[in-house]
Amino acid sequence: MNLSQLRVDTVKGIGEESAKALGGLGIYTVQDLLEFFPFRYEDYSLKSPGDVAHEDRVTMIGTIQSEPSIRYFGKKKNRLSFRMVVDGVLVQVNFFNRAFLKTKIQLGSTVTVTGKWDAHRLTITGSELKFGEIERQGNVEPVYHATSTISSKQLQRWIKVALEMYENQIVEPLPATIRERYKLLNKTETIRHLHNPLHPELVKQARRRYVYEELLYFQLRMRVFKQQHRELQTGRQLIVSRDQLDPFFAQLPFTLTGAQNQAVDDILADISSPYRMNRLLQGDVGSGKTAVAAACMYAVVKAGAQSALMAPTEILAEQHAKSLADWFEPLGLSVALLAGSVKGKKRTVLLEKIATGEIDIVVGTHALIQEDVFFHNLGFVITDEQHRFGVEQRRVLRSKGESPDVLFMTATPIPRTLAISVFGDMDVSVLNELPAGRKPIETYWVTHDLFERVLGFIEKEVMAGHQAYVISPLIEESEKLDVQNAIDLYTMLANHYQGNIQVGLMHGRLSAAEKEDVMSAFAKNDTQLLVSTTVVEVGVNVPNATVMVIYDADRFGLAQLHQLRGRVGRGDAQSTCILVAKPKSEVGKERMRIMTETTDGFVLSERDLELRGPGDFFGSKQSGLPDFKLADVVHDYRTLETARQDADVIISSNVLEHDEEYAHLARYLKEIGAYEGEKID
Ligand code: ADP
Ligand code: MG
Repeated sequence: MNLSQLRVDTVKGIGEESAKALGGLGIYTVQDLLEFFPFRYEDYSLKSPGDVAHEDRVTMIGTIQSEPSIRYFGKKKNRLSFRMVVDGVLVQVNFFNRAFLKTKIQLGSTVTVTGKWDAHRLTITGSELKFGEIERQGNVEPVYHATSTISSKQLQRWIKVALEMYENQIVEPLPATIRERYKLLNKTETIRHLHNPLHPELVKQARRRYVYEELLYFQLRMRVFKQQHRELQTGRQLIVSRDQLDPFFAQLPFTLTGAQNQAVDDILADISSPYRMNRLLQGDVGSGKTAVAAACMYAVVKAGAQSALMAPTEILAEQHAKSLADWFEPLGLSVALLAGSVKGKKRTVLLEKIATGEIDIVVGTHALIQEDVFFHNLGFVITDEQHRFGVEQRRVLRSKGESPDVLFMTATPIPRTLAISVFGDMDVSVLNELPAGRKPIETYWVTHDLFERVLGFIEKEVMAGHQAYVISPLIEESEKLDVQNAIDLYTMLANHYQGNIQVGLMHGRLSAAEKEDVMSAFAKNDTQLLVSTTVVEVGVNVPNATVMVIYDADRFGLAQLHQLRGRVGRGDAQSTCILVAKPKSEVGKERMRIMTETTDGFVLSERDLELRGPGDFFGSKQSGLPDFKLADVVHDYRTLETARQDADVIISSNVLEHDEEYAHLARYLKEIGAYEGEKID
């Protein structure tokens, strides 16, 4: 008998009334009951004063050292206090409004106290007191969401009975191969440990297993929907192959990393397939997304179509146009820049060439999506730093061709989960390794009084042949003040270095031509120090720069700091990032600390979400997500990603048809295949 078809009142002790009340919690079947998990656990394992943190909930066992004393406040309130020795440490115990316990507390006897720990005062504010040593099966107790009619304890009892009756009928849906691969508990153990853990570690393991299962099912669902979606979205089919790329790779000054190669393969497979590609290329700053894009653009051009790359800023478009021209022109491809700075006659001529197909590759800013831009045969569209563009802009760019394949590139780690949970129909390629030889950027946090020393450090690095950025404080409310800050800092630094170091100045009020001059002077090492506002935040690539100083760093969010830091560490030399800040808030301080602790964008975004809370980020979008029992797409996104890859393999291999291990999953998919009403937008 399938537990999902067995009514909950078949459990001994659950009558009609109780079954009705359980229905209020969404529990109708035995399976519902068994998978109604505690929302937290009470940990009663014994702790020592030395190894618990301030404000932790703790349980300690001690020997009473002082007669209890009682203080009364007003009529009804009182505090009972005594001292006990726990592992050789004298601990103060306070109980509020339990004066009646006084007679039971005897000098020299043993008690177990559970409560909140104050590490500064070595005090427990108690909530539970047991005489002697406690006897428990385990030290962890589940706490369930209770209702007015069902208590947590009641649920605990029913679930215990249900387990006794039906434990041996729990079906294992996961193939043994997968369970072995990730060292996952079996389903029965999982359910048992989630309800009756003997140890907190077992809860963790059980949770890990359950979350994986939930997310794998979720991903399988997504995958099935995606396929249905794909059948509706036919695109063009270009004949591209890896061999065609040989000339491109031959002149590229480096060889691709494994991750880059994999991404190129993913993209080429999409381009040569009949459905329209809709793919996200995600790679941390400096992971080399441009080279991946370039290789694929090259293949598309060889197959007879045009490619377009849209970047969010002029500086970035300019830089891309330059590196693509360097790579492609020797190979006989024509590359053009279409940005706001291209005007008048020049622009007319360029538009003509794009329309006739004389230009193979067009790089640009928003200027690319103006109404009068027509392509001859646009087959492949890329947006760099895609989060900078709105949905509408991306749509317009796509509409410039006939169902062109589309690639979005981003360094923001969050969209990986977003892409999966919100843009359910997007494929994802991840660059999860940096080019060989990169050294992790060292990050320091200093206060303003050390700025002199920072300037000395910059000088030393410049003397060693390197370059540096100094980012001026951000004033978001006022561009004028923002620019003024940059100018002031520039003047100060130019004075300080007195011509020993050439200083450049970059900000948003410069004209496109001026920006270009400033950037190219820095790229050529004519200036060694670039003072800038955040206009250099994304994409800028000057590998010789090794120092990034961020002034008033606490004004920036973690994502922004990470992007800024990513402007260095792009070559073989050791790079350094210095955060100059005196944050006022705890969160501000925490941000600085996190920056010094990790350079991994995924870890950072995770911490960022923890600091800000997922609500901020997901907002109403979260409502589009299925209700998970334990999984949390924000905190479990690594598992989400693993599950996604596994779901891909499961669907694309034919294990579902042939392999007995996968029978359960196969049945499930057949069932959901029938849910035609469900949508994924
Ligand atoms: P991002 O992913 O941040 O856009 P870029 O594409 O700008 O990174 O690449 C960062 C730097 O690394 C560039 O100078 C690029 O030429 C270089 N690069 C890219 N791939 C490799 C590689 N496989 N080996 C060495 N250097 C590489
Ligand atoms: Mg980039």
